[in-house]
Amino acid sequence: MKYDYLVVGCGLYGAVFARQATDKGKKVLVIEKRNHIAGNIYTEKIEGIDVHKYGPHIFHTNNKAVWNFINKFSSFNNFIFSPIANYKDQLYSLPFSMFTFNKMWGVNTPEEAEKIINEQKKEIKSEPKNLEEQAINLVGRDVFEKLIKGYTEKQWGRKCKDLPLFIIKRLPVRFTYNNNYFNALYQGIPVKGYTKLIENMLFGIDVKLNEDYLKNREYYNSISDKIIYTGAIDAYFDYKLGALEYRTVNFENEILNIPDFQSNAMVNYTDKEIPWTRIIEHKWFMFGKDEKGNDLPKTVISKEFSREWTKEDEPYYPVNDEKNNNLYLKYKELADKEKNIFFGGRLGEYKYYDMDQVIESALNFCSREFC
Ligand code: UDP
Repeated sequence: MKYDYLVVGCGLYGAVFARQATDKGKKVLVIEKRNHIAGNIYTEKIEGIDVHKYGPHIFHTNNKAVWNFINKFSSFNNFIFSPIANYKDQLYSLPFSMFTFNKMWGVNTPEEAEKIINEQKKEIKSEPKNLEEQAINLVGRDVFEKLIKGYTEKQWGRKCKDLPLFIIKRLPVRFTYNNNYFNALYQGIPVKGYTKLIENMLFGIDVKLNEDYLKNREYYNSISDKIIYTGAIDAYFDYKLGALEYRTVNFENEILNIPDFQSNAMVNYTDKEIPWTRIIEHKWFMFGKDEKGNDLPKTVISKEFSREWTKEDEPYYPVNDEKNNNLYLKYKELADKEKNIFFGGRLGEYKYYDMDQVIESALNFCSREFC
């Protein structure tokens, strides 16, 4: 059987492409090396709870076209993300808002908070050059020391001085009492889980699990005209220019015989001494209820531990510092010379994409490919 497109990897990018191509009348095969669809947004039902097996995913976007697209495959609840930071058993509200500043300094008004931050950021004398300087410039040294430094160094295994500043710009800072983290126009969690969403997206499309393209390239190249490759770009080239760095995460999952562990979907542990970065309590993404709206008697929690990726691990986060970005550009040059193969998604483009950005990128590629 000859396919128009082979899609390597059944995560969000691959599934979006496969859907759009199929709807354009193309014959598509999706292959996936793991034993399940949905990549790292995969969810699994445990005790009636959709457990985010590869870490918490909260859908959010300001892009109406992306929102309309994704809603074709699932409805979404109106979950609003408001994580909590735990620093030595003191709880702070995230994102950084007046709630955080009130707890940190006892101030009630934005003027008071800004005055303290302006005072503390004086130590940054020129344009911030790394994550540490950027963070202090945004929220001052106290917030940096208690809520950013420990978490970031655990998450990335690198000093804040050695990390790119764009990472911290992901975190909102607000001088209001609004702790809606993403504050996006459209946000929520798919009501039947992300796996079901991807299953719906792939309706009628050939999918083969447990198939590693890199181990069987010649065969797969021979059955398809074009390839959409969403795996790691350096792995595609057998790491011949050197390996790009990634962070991977491990989870310790526990089913607890209590209805409530931490009363919130996510608590970040910002102290360096605690080995995990965060604890996810999955039921709160669905307001503690099952699909029929019943309260759930048990709860599932995941402690997340971050470490450097090795070739045996799943890559999660690209380390987009200068050294790696330069290496990526060299791989990209090689990729651009390849015929009939296109690289996409977080791993294919070595980019710290959010879900909506992945969808947008896949849809943009499709409009060029099928124009
Ligand atoms: N971060 C932090 N303290 C926190 C949460 C996040 O300093 O309590 C920093 C950290 O450097 C992290 C970055 O903000 O890598 C981005 O966090 P985000 O929650 O966006 O990461 P993700 O959910 O993608 O893991």
